[in-house]
Amino acid sequence: MKLEERIIEVLKEPVCDNCLGRTMGNLVSGMSNAQRGRAARDYVAFLIDSGEKLNVHAPNFRSYRLRNAKLQTDGPTRCEVCGDFFSEGLEAMVKRAAAKVSGYEFSDFVVGSSPTDEMQNKEEALWNRIGIDYIEPIKSEINREAGKRLEKLTGKKFNMKDPDIVFFFDLKRDEVLLQVKSLYISGGYQKLVRGIPQTRWVCMDCNGKGCVECKGEGKRYKTSVHEIVGKPAAKAADGKDHAFHGAGREDIDARCLDYRPFVIEVIKPKKRRIDLKKLERAINKSGKVRVGRLAFCDKETVVKTKSDRHDKTYTAEVEFEDKIDKKLLPKIKSLKGATVMQRTPNRVAHRRADLIRKRGVLSIVFKQTGPKKLRVTVKGQAGLYIKELMSGDEGRTTPSVAVLLNNKVKKIVLDVVKIHPVI
Ligand SMILES: [Zn+2]
Ligand SMILES: [Zn+2]
Repeated sequence: MKLEERIIEVLKEPVCDNCLGRTMGNLVSGMSNAQRGRAARDYVAFLIDSGEKLNVHAPNFRSYRLRNAKLQTDGPTRCEVCGDFFSEGLEAMVKRAAAKVSGYEFSDFVVGSSPTDEMQNKEEALWNRIGIDYIEPIKSEINREAGKRLEKLTGKKFNMKDPDIVFFFDLKRDEVLLQVKSLYISGGYQKLVRGIPQTRWVCMDCNGKGCVECKGEGKRYKTSVHEIVGKPAAKAADGKDHAFHGAGREDIDARCLDYRPFVIEVIKPKKRRIDLKKLERAINKSGKVRVGRLAFCDKETVVKTKSDRHDKTYTAEVEFEDKIDKKLLPKIKSLKGATVMQRTPNRVAHRRADLIRKRGVLSIVFKQTGPKKLRVTVKGQAGLYIKELMSGDEGRTTPSVAVLLNNKVKKIVLDVVKIHPVI
């Protein structure tokens, strides 16, 4: 079908300039579909006025003042494809979108949409008549036209790549949905006190609803590194919620004296340009957690932070049940460079698969601090269970300090003292 025949075919039904122009959307750049449609309609109007008898829907030419031809232009002009969405519905949805986003700080956005089934069916019916050469689907025109208008209305940039805001025009439900990109802040944290978990620990008895066991808190521990860092961050960015992403975690009863990398994610933030120095001070006031090196980052940093495997150095204050046999102490040196086989420890077996882990001891030094007490400093490969390396975990970890000293471990107090950079 020649292009002219196609244009005339489209004009057999009431059609707006956008929908007419969209059938030539991939011809001639630098024009809007409305301009393409207008040009095509103008051309056909010339043909009609020059005396050509064309089988078209005459009301499509109601606005023309023809010199020669007489057209009976009574009849419907509502566009068969879009139902006049481009001239009527779109503007209203754009205004709703702009109203929805007011109050949010953002610099760029993108628009997505789902046209109604009717629009899509009508458009496909049209394609069946004229073919699909040069056409643009209605959805992409809606997205682009809404984008242009929203740029004007909000003064922000349309940007496909990782924008702050995604508008979704759901024409089926006549709804405008707003997706707000999370605000990501990376940093390092030190846990200065024992007895707090890294992440919120939901009460297993009530699943977070609050019960007698958890004193109505819905959680097993009053606070967590996550909450101590996340609450001030969510407050500063005026966000709805917050999520915590750490590079591994220390035991609840262990301190972390080096800065452990993390990313705090503020969900649905209204503010993005927050003062990180001020946030750092607000978090550090807790006295329990100290953060540093706060910086804005992107989602990819979350993935990297969580997957990085850091070697770590720990100090363990170990107390044994019996007096330490000094003759056996040098045996501990044999652990340097050893590969330790660790079956999933008893203490975490309820939430982790039962596996054998092989991890290296990179270095180990010790000092006797009492008849039954030893301070051991171990540098281990990422994932080495330190408490079990001390205690042997009833034979599940081997070799172990307890077996080498032929003594049972009574108590271990653990600190992470160095988180080594990933090489
Ligand atoms: Zn239309
Ligand atoms: Zn509970």
